[in-house]
Amino acid sequence: MAIATINPATGEIIKEFEPLTEAAIAQKIELAQRTFESYRYTSMEQRAAWLTAAADLLDANKETYGKLMTLEMGKPIAAAIAEVEKCAWVCRFYAEHAAEFLQDTLIETDASHSFVHYQPLGIILAVMPWNFPFWQVFRFAAPALMSGNVGLLKHASNVPQSALAIEEILTKAGFPEGAFQTLLIGSDRVAPIIADDRVKAATLTGSEAAGASLASAAGKQLKKTVLELGGSDPFIVLDSADLEAAVSTAVTARMLNNGQSCIAAKRFIVQESIAAAFAEKMTAQFAALKVGDPMHPDTNVGPLATPTILKDLDAQVQACVAQGARVLIGGQPLAEFPSANYYPPTILTDLPLGCPAYHEEFFGPVALLFQVPDLNAAIELANSTPFGLGASAWTQIDQERDRLIHELEAGAVFINGLVKSDPRMPFGGIKRSGYGRELGAEGIREFVNIKTVWVK
Ligand code: NDP
Repeated sequence: MAIATINPATGEIIKEFEPLTEAAIAQKIELAQRTFESYRYTSMEQRAAWLTAAADLLDANKETYGKLMTLEMGKPIAAAIAEVEKCAWVCRFYAEHAAEFLQDTLIETDASHSFVHYQPLGIILAVMPWNFPFWQVFRFAAPALMSGNVGLLKHASNVPQSALAIEEILTKAGFPEGAFQTLLIGSDRVAPIIADDRVKAATLTGSEAAGASLASAAGKQLKKTVLELGGSDPFIVLDSADLEAAVSTAVTARMLNNGQSCIAAKRFIVQESIAAAFAEKMTAQFAALKVGDPMHPDTNVGPLATPTILKDLDAQVQACVAQGARVLIGGQPLAEFPSANYYPPTILTDLPLGCPAYHEEFFGPVALLFQVPDLNAAIELANSTPFGLGASAWTQIDQERDRLIHELEAGAVFINGLVKSDPRMPFGGIKRSGYGRELGAEGIREFVNIKTVWVK
C-alpha cells in the first residue's frame, strides 16, 4: 500500500511519501536506543511536564489537527476535533497519575523488606490504524513515555501526515529527540524491526490478520505484544429498557466514525415485544442522518476511509442479502458523491443463520438487527461470535443487569450506555478481539518490567 494522503471525500491524491530506506530505519532505531539510555533516568516530574506541554499544544491546535484527520480518513470534523481534545485528556491523565500507578508496591513476606518495582523496557513499537489517527497513538504514547520507554510508530499508510504531526507535537513539547519517532514504512518492514534486539515489545491496533502477523513475528523473538483487534459488539435491548434512549444511543454507537470503530455497536439484539418499535425508530433516525462532506460541520456520516473498506463492506451486505436478509434502509453504495467511498446508513434484519452478520466485523455504517425471545437467547446470541471487545446492554431490571455483567463475553460491559474508551478505565478485548489492556493503571503496566524485590 502506497504511503499517501488521499482525500476519501474526493479521491484526490494530496501528498505521497517515499518509505524510509533500510539505512534510515537503522538510524532511527539507533537514535531511539541512545535516547532510551538517558531518557529512562528522567524524573516523573520532568516527563509529566513534557506530556502536559503536549496536551497544551493539542488543545491550542485542535482545529488544525482535526482538519488533518478529516482530510486523511474522512471522519466528520466535529468528531475529529473532539478526538484531539481526548488526546489532550489522556496526556494530562497520565501526567497526573503515572507516578502513582508505578510507585513501588510494598508486600509483606518473610523478607525484612519486599516490594514490586516497575522499570521501563526500552523501545516499544506501535503499529496503529487509520480510524482514530491521533487517539490510537496518544493512548499508547502517553503511558509509554511516562513509564520511561521510548516509542517507534508505524502508522497506517493512509495517514502519514497525522503520523508526522504526532512526532512533531511530542518533540515540540520538549521530549528529547528520539523519544518518539514516526517511521514511514510499509507493513513489510514491521517483522524485521521486531527482530531487532533493541526493540523490546510491540502493540498493534487493527485487523485480526495484522495482529496475527505481528504476534507471530514477535513470538518468534519471544517478545511481548498487546493486540487490540476487531469487534462485533452486541447492543442488547430488553423489554424494560428506556426505548427512546436506547434507540438514539444505538444510532450514535453505530455511526461513530462513519461506522469504522472497533467498539461501535454492530449487532443490535432486541427483545421480541419491542423489536418492531425499535426497528421503526432506528430506521427513521438513520434516514434523518446527513451523509456528505466530512469537513462540513452539519455532516453526520462522511465517506469510508478507503475504496477497499467500502468494497469489503458492500460485499458483506450483499452476501447477507443473497442469503435472505431484508434491507430496512440503505444497502447500496451511494453513487451521487465525488468519490466512490460513500455508503449510506444501512439496516439489515431477518439475518439467516450462517450469513456474515454472525461471525464477521462490519466496518462501516451498517446495523445488523436481531430479534430474540428472552434474556437467555440475547446472551447466547451476543456471545456467539469470535469477538469479545465491548458490549452495551439496556435494562431496568437489577437481576437482568447482573446476569449481563457476569455472562457477556467481552472486555467491557456498559449498562444503559454507549461503549467508550476512557483514560481512567482499562480498555481491551478477549477472544479474537485481542489481549492485553490499554489505558488506566493496567495500560501503563503492560510494557514495564514488574520487578520483584526481596531484601533480607
Ligand atoms: P490493518 O489491520 O491492515 O491495518 C492496521 C495497521 O496494521 C496499519 O498500520 C497497517 O499498515 C498495519 N499492518 C497491516 N498488515 C500488517 C502486517 N502483516 N504486519 C504488520 N503490520 C501490518 O487494517 P485495514 O486498514 O486493512 O482494515 C481492514 C479491517 O481491519 C477493517 O475492515 C476492520 O475490520 C479492521 N480494523 C480494525 C481496527 C480497530 O480499531 N480494531 C482499525 C482498523 C481496521 P498499512 O496501512 O501500511 O497496511
